[in-house]
Amino acid sequence: MSFSIEDAAQVLRPPEAGLPYLRSDRASDLGAEPGSLALDGDRIASFSADSGARQRIDARGCAVVPGFVDCHTHLPFAGWRAEEYAMKIAGRPYTEIARAGGGIRSSARALGATSDDDVLAQARGLAAEMLAHGTTTFETKSGYGLSIEAETRALRLAGALAASVAQDVTSSALVAHAVPDGFDADAWLDAVERALPQMLAATTVTALDVYVESVAFTNDHLARVGALAAAHGLDLRAHVEQFARHGSVPVALSAPARSLDHLSCASAEDVAALGAAECAAVLLPGAEVMGAEELAPGRELADAGAIGVLATDANPGTSPIVSMPLIIGLAVRRYRWTALEALLASTLNAAWVLRRSDATGSLEVGKRADVLVIDGPIESVPYRLGHNPVAFAFAGGELVYARPDQAWRLAS
Ligand SMILES: [Zn+2]
Repeated sequence: MSFSIEDAAQVLRPPEAGLPYLRSDRASDLGAEPGSLALDGDRIASFSADSGARQRIDARGCAVVPGFVDCHTHLPFAGWRAEEYAMKIAGRPYTEIARAGGGIRSSARALGATSDDDVLAQARGLAAEMLAHGTTTFETKSGYGLSIEAETRALRLAGALAASVAQDVTSSALVAHAVPDGFDADAWLDAVERALPQMLAATTVTALDVYVESVAFTNDHLARVGALAAAHGLDLRAHVEQFARHGSVPVALSAPARSLDHLSCASAEDVAALGAAECAAVLLPGAEVMGAEELAPGRELADAGAIGVLATDANPGTSPIVSMPLIIGLAVRRYRWTALEALLASTLNAAWVLRRSDATGSLEVGKRADVLVIDGPIESVPYRLGHNPVAFAFAGGELVYARPDQAWRLAS
């Protein structure tokens, strides 16, 4: 199928072709000029209208941007934890809920009690919701297994999800999320280390992930997971500095990590180090808002030249959010980011975290046709907070979402 997206008010383009990422202090180098875009098969074919295309979209007044890349989600999971949210609103901290058997353990019990079919049905529903909000690439994580068998099952379910949705889906093994009952943290990582070759053989995992927090793992465990990742040729991702400062950033950077996620309590030294490192700073403003967490130093990270990234952290506990436009709106307001900084962080830089930026994340001829038509200018995405701005979404050249009120724009 070929499409011609015509007369857009803005087409978001990188300053040059082939960039793996663009540091946030260069976001203003992105172009947003009027233009058209032709898609042929699964590729972006040209930056001009194609009068021979099978279908045409009248994009007057619209922005055309890359499909969003959500590089930090906890799909697949089972059920929700609305009751914990009510507790948090009433003032009970997450760390206390977790120690009382809630939090990750609660989701692990739910996953264990839910059939494969039901887990996949929930995850596919969320993937469809993500698609309607413009997410054409996303990451999955294990971490709600809390036994070797259940972690392996979660990774297998993530693979089944990847095979059955329109998006490009990657898989991370969050092997150190909470310490399972019957283990201490060291003994659990011993078990992970022994089982890892077998876990990886059955899956398409590209990264190991670890959660450093008082209720989870320490910096020593972070270093150990980093060494395990390196030994297996995988990237290291890490949840760090979410609720309190643990000094994890220098440890992770020396691992070296591909991304450091959360960073709500990062220090000025951490900001400077991330500004110089080839390691993404993945900020999760949804979790910060929902959990009344500290505010990550987003403005400072962007000014320091970090590889700034945004993600939903979609999970049943701390961030039941799947909308990247909502995340962009929160980031712009809370971090005082420009719309371009937030768009860059949700597309090319997020694709780099997942090692997909050679294929997607920016509008370039020859890249995969993961393309959104937005119902207004780029600046309206953060401004109309809570509105879904996606009029049309293409994933791999397929028109996978068309908002009914925008159907008039489409003609054969
Ligand atoms: Zn997370």
